[in-house]
Amino acid sequence: MKKISIVVPCYNEEEAIPLFYEEINKTSKEIKDYDFEFIFVNDGSKDNSALIMKELAKKDKRVKFIDFSRNFGKEAAMYAGLELSSGDFITTMDVDLQDPPSLLPEMIKGITEEGYDCVATKSTSRNGYSFLRKTFTRWFYKIIAKISKTEMVAGARDYRLMTRQMVNAIINMKEYNRYSKGLFSFVGFKTKWIEFENQERVAGTTKWNFWKLFSYAIDGIVGFSTAPLIVSSIIGVLFCLISFIIIIFIVIRTLIFGDPTSGWPSLACIIFFVSGVQLFCIGIIGQYLSKVYLEVKNRPIYIIKDTNIKDKKHE
Ligand code: UDP
Ligand code: MG
Repeated sequence: MKKISIVVPCYNEEEAIPLFYEEINKTSKEIKDYDFEFIFVNDGSKDNSALIMKELAKKDKRVKFIDFSRNFGKEAAMYAGLELSSGDFITTMDVDLQDPPSLLPEMIKGITEEGYDCVATKSTSRNGYSFLRKTFTRWFYKIIAKISKTEMVAGARDYRLMTRQMVNAIINMKEYNRYSKGLFSFVGFKTKWIEFENQERVAGTTKWNFWKLFSYAIDGIVGFSTAPLIVSSIIGVLFCLISFIIIIFIVIRTLIFGDPTSGWPSLACIIFFVSGVQLFCIGIIGQYLSKVYLEVKNRPIYIIKDTNIKDKKHE
């Protein structure tokens, strides 16, 4: 019998985990031809999430848990789950039931009957998210579509069923700065998209605030595009040209009319402006440099404190 692994990253989700388990247990009973494995990853929760997972694991031997030594972020949690999964088909799912388990049968069919390597989901609306977040997200996808060769689908969720082959390809990308939406797209494979109406969280609150999302967006841009570097170079060249023209103009004017000593306010403005642009461009370079720095250090993506998964690596 083939096995489906479901990877569930959890961060302070003590209320949502039991509800999720109940739901996924129901779905797994409806899908008769497959074995299941539920991998709960405790991403350094400060509440009782780890305890609840361990209790579940005692009751149900399909439940696996991975307990991180601290909060490493959702990307790291997903990576750990994928790496330690043993199923033939693998999916990641949010524990807050915003990724409806009821879509699973359709997703399985996409792979087994329609010949896809991956069935991904995207939500059609963003109900339940703030206006600021919605606007910001829309802009992010517009920008990234223009500047990156890797295609990123707006509204795409991390909820996708993948074959073992595709997951192995993703695991093999061991980069430290992970941006899954880009990585999924980078590895290729034939992907079918399913749309669904956005669901509200069943319990608990969102773990993302504006700044967390903002820096995640920067990760996405810096990880999958070098366009900002080119932009900063173009701005630099443009300012050189402008200042060159101004210098010629001033020299000629001085030769013809002499030197009327005025105009220091405009000069001060120009100095401010140009140094602002310089700092902006150095900042962009710094972004890339900092990512290189983190990659070069080659630190582990996650550290496990406790798990009930025996053999660590699977093929
Ligand atoms: N999550 C995590 N580590 C984090 C932040 C979030 O494992 O540092 C998990 C969280 O428990 C949930 C999923 O990632 O299962 C999605 O988070 P959330 O629902 O807060 O995001 P949103 O739906 O608001 O985008
Ligand atoms: Mg959510």
